[in-house]
Amino acid sequence: MRLILLGPPGAGKGTQAQRLVERHGIVQLSTGDMLRAAVKAGTEVGLKAKAVMDAGQLVSDEIVVGVVADRIDQPDCARGFILDGFPRTVPQAEALDRMLAGKGLKLDAVIELKVDEEALVARMENRVKETIAAGGVPRADDNPDAFRKRLAEYREKTAPLSSYYAAAGELKTTDGMRSIDEVTEAIDAILKGTVG
Ligand code: AMP
Repeated sequence: MRLILLGPPGAGKGTQAQRLVERHGIVQLSTGDMLRAAVKAGTEVGLKAKAVMDAGQLVSDEIVVGVVADRIDQPDCARGFILDGFPRTVPQAEALDRMLAGKGLKLDAVIELKVDEEALVARMENRVKETIAAGGVPRADDNPDAFRKRLAEYREKTAPLSSYYAAAGELKTTDGMRSIDEVTEAIDAILKGTVG
């Protein structure tokens, strides 16, 4: 089973991906994690990616696609994978299509978690208020300004992937504002209708 989960930051992709890993024996491939590992190991890719990552910019498509292409050849990906943090742009999605076709593979589903962005921001603001009221220090990324920036970047660069995959007839959408369990059930129902 080969999947992509789409949705803005805070939509619950990580939580759902973890559940899919457990239920289906597939692996979660995070390009951010893979690149950080390459930097740590001092590989050629790591050396190229380090400065770009340190500057908070996007690593070139060539590098990211190469990293994913090598990773999915590993034996633990034989049962399938969920891509996390990739593709992040339409050109990356096009490169992924070419790369999978070259390996004789295809995606089973692209599942989008539809969420109300303002509700996500409100949730985050509440969490910050509650933490402060309880005498705690909010996490650095539980910061409404930073969060809005990530949402804006998602909207600009990654949200166009919904139309891309919809045009290819691969997109399935589900309401990500429901409880974690309800979203998991909805994803399962989509997969039952899509996979094998
Ligand atoms: P993340 O852990 O997904 O936030 O990724 C951390 C960093 O890795 C990003 O800031 C980028 O520099 C790089 N990165 C991860 N995924 C990608 C991608 N699909 N395309 C380009 N750069 C990426």
